[in-house]
Amino acid sequence: MPDPIAPDCELCREDGGAVLWRDGFCRVVLVGDADYPAFCRVVLARHVREMTDLDAAERARLMAVVFAVEAALREHVRPDKMNLASLGNAVPHLHWHVIARFRDDRHFPAPVWAAAQRTRGFRAPVDPARLAAAIASKL
Ligand SMILES: [Zn+2]
Repeated sequence: MPDPIAPDCELCREDGGAVLWRDGFCRVVLVGDADYPAFCRVVLARHVREMTDLDAAERARLMAVVFAVEAALREHVRPDKMNLASLGNAVPHLHWHVIARFRDDRHFPAPVWAAAQRTRGFRAPVDPARLAAAIASKL
């Protein structure tokens, strides 16, 4: 049976970034944010609003992918801090933001969605192929 999709949802229609890894349950994308090259999202394949809409096994499976991405980003760009967030206010399709942060990035110590602290901040160099391989090795 196909996964339920919502026709007006951008994460049902599009990947939401460059796909680094995927299976039938979820995908990992590199967002392509100019200020944050090391900004990934883990996006559930089907259209679900909240973590508590998943059963316990699905929650654990999704978080295992989130933690694999966090670990891969830590190895790849050695950030000062990792940020994990699940908001979905703008796009209510379950996804996690996994963002490598640096003391001198554009918004630090604020969230990346807050007012910028500086005009241009540090941008960690990311090799998408190497990052994809690192994620795959952890899953
Ligand atoms: Zn959706």
